[in-house]
Amino acid sequence: MFIENFKVESPNVKYTETEIQSVYNYETTELVHENRNGTYQWIVKPKTVKYEFKTDIHVPKLGVMLVGWGGNNGSTLTGGVIANREGISWATKDKIQQANYFGSLTQASAIRVGSFQGEEIHAPFKSLLPMVNPDDIVFGGWDISDMNLADAMARARVFDIDLQKQLRPYMESMVPLPGIYDPDFIAANQGERANNVIKGTKREQINQIIKDIKEFKEANKVDRVVVLWTANTERYSNLVVGLNDTMENLFAAVDRNESEISPSTLFAIACVMENVPFINGSPQNTFVPGLIDLAIKNNCLIGGDDFKSGQTKMKSVLVDFLVGAGIKPTSIVSYNHLGNNDGMNLSAPQTFRSKEISKSNVVDDMVNSNAILYAPGEHPDHVVVIKYVPYVGDSKRAMDEYTSEIFMGGKNTIVLHNTCEDSLLAAPIILDLVLLAELSTRIQFKSEAEVKNSFPSLCCKRTHSLF
Ligand code: NAD
Repeated sequence: MFIENFKVESPNVKYTETEIQSVYNYETTELVHENRNGTYQWIVKPKTVKYEFKTDIHVPKLGVMLVGWGGNNGSTLTGGVIANREGISWATKDKIQQANYFGSLTQASAIRVGSFQGEEIHAPFKSLLPMVNPDDIVFGGWDISDMNLADAMARARVFDIDLQKQLRPYMESMVPLPGIYDPDFIAANQGERANNVIKGTKREQINQIIKDIKEFKEANKVDRVVVLWTANTERYSNLVVGLNDTMENLFAAVDRNESEISPSTLFAIACVMENVPFINGSPQNTFVPGLIDLAIKNNCLIGGDDFKSGQTKMKSVLVDFLVGAGIKPTSIVSYNHLGNNDGMNLSAPQTFRSKEISKSNVVDDMVNSNAILYAPGEHPDHVVVIKYVPYVGDSKRAMDEYTSEIFMGGKNTIVLHNTCEDSLLAAPIILDLVLLAELSTRIQFKSEAEVKNSFPSLCCKRTHSLF
């Protein structure tokens, strides 16, 4: 059975006019390595950590500003939310299709809440805590291309034509604000679209972004803003002591107009200074140590490292499953070809390298977790190839071959072929990220160990682990 919502009655949960207060006892363990009778032993001691949560139940009016608003993801998310809000349906060659939020954890997944007369009861994920309704989001953002969102949607070639026709009137008047363009950080092939850029020094560019956020808030009468980077993948920034290693050094480097500070880091600095949550959907290292330092000091939420929406998500799940089952992956080879602007940008070696690192990292934890299968330092061969093939557009092809060693020297090979519009995978994830980022700013918690009576918000607890 499916229920739409519920209330919790428990000595651990209290609803007030303004908040939900709850106590959660987390059963975990503590490990000690002790000398007992002359030999060192690992001792595992079960322990309970008591957490107290407070959730503000007032749901604010939310503004979402996307960096790269006119890209495939930005235009697909904006059009998708409008189509859901307006209840749009359209003709495809197969059927009349209704707008939906498939692929969104908050809008399309369910949780088991218990059983009633022997029957399992499930409820929507979004009924867990008061969350922003996507219908009420106001979208805005920046792009280095000045194309309006209706034309950007046509350029993306993601939505069916009948849907595009119905969305056009809503999106024609949406025009991105100028973005920060630095040709040193993205592929040279992006230069042609850069006709909408903020001029000036890095300090002036940060100030402009802060001004844009303030004006957007004011013009749209929104209570809170979340900013998300869905612009092109940048190359990695060099981490240099004295340049971007601390908050002070990063600010001083901005004032010297140092070239090694990327546009995404400039956007993130502006957001943290304005106490606006900033989510990064691309693989580059936007969060240099000085920026993390700044975010912790300002208690501002930052998070994200590539959306990991398709091939990488499958890889995380599959490697976890194989190694968890005692099977030893020895070779993982991933080919991709895609024909959208993201693919064109990734055809440059420096931006490809950011993607390669992000796609490779996801197997490390599992390999390191099992010394029965892997000797120290041993690692599966792991190769990632991405090719730009314009004809396939946004419909990305991902082909993976996993070879593993099984019982008694046997070999097992699994081959996957995944074809899907990339932006239709990413858009619902972007929606979840902004909704959960907003929710995180309304949750405060403390553990028993924290003697102080204050309730730090989730943000300063490095909330990216929540996502
Ligand atoms: P896209 O090229 O269609 O869109 C990016 C937009 O960003 C473009 O319109 C471009 O003009 C704009 N832009 C570039 N630099 C900018 C800057 N400094 N400031 C403002 N705007 C800027 O790409 P996309 O397909 O929408 O993907 C966006 C990002 O998301 C890429 O980095 C991609 O690697 C990442 N990503 C996508 C997926 C997915 O689509 N499934 C998954 C993981 C990661």
